[in-house]
Amino acid sequence: MKKYDYIVVGAGIFGATVAERLANAGLKTLVIDRREHLAGNIYSYADAETGIEVHKYGSHIFHTEIDEVWDYIARFSEFNDYVHTVNTRHKGKLYPMPINLDTINMLYGMDMSAEEAKEFVAEEAKRDSKKYGIEMPQNFEEKGISLVGEKLYTAFLKNYTEKQWNTSARNLSAEILNRIPVRFSHDNRYFMTAKHQGIPKNGYTKMVEKMLEADAIEIRLGVDFKDIENGLPNNARVIYCGQVDELLNYELGVLPWRSLRFEEEKTEEGLGEAVINEADKEVPYTRAHDYKFYQIHQPEVIKQKASIVAREYPADFKKGGEAYYPVNNKESAELYEKYVDLVKVKYPNMILGGRLGAYQYWDMDKAIKNALDLAKELTNK
Ligand SMILES: Cc1cc2nc3c(=O)[nH]c(=O)nc-3n(C[C@H](O)[C@H](O)[C@H](O)COP(=O)(O)OP(=O)(O)OC[C@H]3O[C@@H](n4cnc5c(N)ncnc54)[C@H](O)[C@@H]3O)c2cc1C
Repeated sequence: MKKYDYIVVGAGIFGATVAERLANAGLKTLVIDRREHLAGNIYSYADAETGIEVHKYGSHIFHTEIDEVWDYIARFSEFNDYVHTVNTRHKGKLYPMPINLDTINMLYGMDMSAEEAKEFVAEEAKRDSKKYGIEMPQNFEEKGISLVGEKLYTAFLKNYTEKQWNTSARNLSAEILNRIPVRFSHDNRYFMTAKHQGIPKNGYTKMVEKMLEADAIEIRLGVDFKDIENGLPNNARVIYCGQVDELLNYELGVLPWRSLRFEEEKTEEGLGEAVINEADKEVPYTRAHDYKFYQIHQPEVIKQKASIVAREYPADFKKGGEAYYPVNNKESAELYEKYVDLVKVKYPNMILGGRLGAYQYWDMDKAIKNALDLAKELTNK
């Protein structure tokens, strides 16, 4: 263990970026992951029979507004020109998501212009806010109604969100909806402000393999930090991308997390598009993914009859299970900070990073940006 300058725990995109930058600066790094594969939650593999690249932990679309991140990541993979769009099913009908002018006209059976729709939605919101006595929205439900009115809110926001968080929208913070979730245009791009967007042509795992190919990086898979920590020298510098509550045996309590379960099937009844959201509460999953539609650079993969479809079911987090999303609120932020203080005492040379270690929801680009900033700090570059 003495021969490494750093030990990176977690071979996801955060750990891979830090390790790549440290190796680039001439530092020797050991990367471990308890999973048997690289790439963390962006792991993908090609199905042998169909050539479909399966995103094992749900659809991942790379998108960013940060040039620095794009310039960095594009060194390790070519990206195709995929632009993400999503439809959501409500009462058997598909509507564009996020809510746009077409969604509004379809739901109300009207043909309004952008200006008319803006006025119309504002009137609906005003009337329904009055109906429910909402002046200063106190929770997600009140905020939703005050922004778009009851009908749009109930159709597209309420049930989907309640399924995601397994609680009433009245128990959720109003801040989740800090911007009006409506576009008064026909633009149906899911990531409307992305400057760069696409899918790695050879898959995410190949991209991460390339990031970690330097001689100065050693990789050990199927190894948990707990398996090696007793053998580490006291001053070992560790960058830890796992859950901090688990690291400290949950001694201050379990941080609130949400989990997911994916049910995958090979089928000839695909979705006809990459993602369909399910807005209604009668459907127990929130999204279905049909992965072949990301391979726009391989039309033969898309044209085949077979699809690999995964249905995404929200799940409560249990100790030892997979943590997917932090439940960020005042209480969880306080508990997280207490864990950070404890880490400083118990692991003085440890840096917490990645979405799990930082207890943040980060898209890939934010994870990369944070990793680049950390590596700059560590290498004085
Ligand atoms: C369902 C879903 C869909 C998403 N879709 C998108 C998208 O479309 N676009 C986008 O930009 N972002 C998306 N994201 C976010 C994206 O997944 C994250 O930004 C990214 O995975 C973060 O990388 P990371 O390295 O921080 O964490 P991870 O990928 O989770 O890597 C952490 C690694 O640490 C390992 N580890 C943890 N504890 C230990 C331990 N004790 N010992 C050894 N190893 C350990 C884990 O096994 C894991 O491999 C999505 C997230 C989810 C949940």
